[in-house]
Amino acid sequence: MTMRTMMTNELVCPYCGAIQDMNDVKIFSEDNSRDRNISCENCDKEFKYEVHVFYSSWKEREK
Ligand SMILES: [Zn+2]
Repeated sequence: MTMRTMMTNELVCPYCGAIQDMNDVKIFSEDNSRDRNISCENCDKEFKYEVHVFYSSWKEREK
């Protein structure tokens, strides 16, 4: 079981659950790697996040 949050529209700290204000977030690595490190603005712990563009499709009758 990995410690991951659900995919949400908002970035949520995996430690304390605080929603991060992305205008205000401290980004430590600004390279092109998939995962980035930031620190929580509430509990100040460092964690990683990924940005996903997410599509899902299905035939109407199959869901
Ligand atoms: Zn936190």
